Amino acid sequence: MPFERNREDQDKQDDRQDLGAASCAVHDSNRGLPGLSARIRRANAALKRHQIPSSASVTMSRLVDYSALPEALRDLGFGAVTFSYPLRTLPSSYLACAESPLVDFTPEELHASFEAVKALGKQFPVLNPGASIEDMQRHLHGEPERFGCLAGWKFFYLDWHLQLWRCHNWDRPPCDIREFDGTQRVRDGCTACMIDCYRDDSVMQHVGVAVSDGMRAAAQGDVREAWNHWADRRNLVSAGAAIRTATAWLRVP
Ligand code: SF4
Repeated sequence: MPFERNREDQDKQDDRQDLGAASCAVHDSNRGLPGLSARIRRANAALKRHQIPSSASVTMSRLVDYSALPEALRDLGFGAVTFSYPLRTLPSSYLACAESPLVDFTPEELHASFEAVKALGKQFPVLNPGASIEDMQRHLHGEPERFGCLAGWKFFYLDWHLQLWRCHNWDRPPCDIREFDGTQRVRDGCTACMIDCYRDDSVMQHVGVAVSDGMRAAAQGDVREAWNHWADRRNLVSAGAAIRTATAWLRVP
């Protein structure tokens, strides 16, 4: 799990449930849990009664039928969806990845899946920022990405042995959580992978980090440096992404 979730998520009590396919039969069979969809439907009804918004977390796999997904999600009682970008191998202790043909895509196939997610966003609230999805498409084509990742600086992965990792995709933990004193933080604008937990949130937090960087530079008397941070054109994209995601959450019935 990411050590730090984005502010909108922290502020609003929520419930996310993993979903793997648009069809209930395919989903339950893939999970090996008969009746799972019926239980999800009952859980969502209970959450709604207590005014707790619920979103589905869908892994982008070959099981997903993007055109059928909005209806399936509404039928299960979800008010929004967030997509997990496919993960096949990870060097850390994180286990939510698989060498499975279900998540083995060519760059062209994955690009088409991202396009399907963007199209789906016109019919159903998608919480992944469009700017992040577009960066992932640049990543697939080896093009420069607009937003560097803030994992290791603003987000971490804490495992069940209390080892603190920069992210799921790092090959060794910098330290035990009890030894963390801030000197282990790293900020290098990494763009090595497509893990949505870090990449999506990095897009939305870019503007906050830029404002803070500018204030620090201004406090040191470096007005030009401060202005460069504040006038960074990516700030508007980042703020727009954060506002759209927060708005989608607030509209979840
Ligand atoms: S881009 Fe990937 S590997 Fe690099 S810091 Fe972020 S999550 Fe870790």
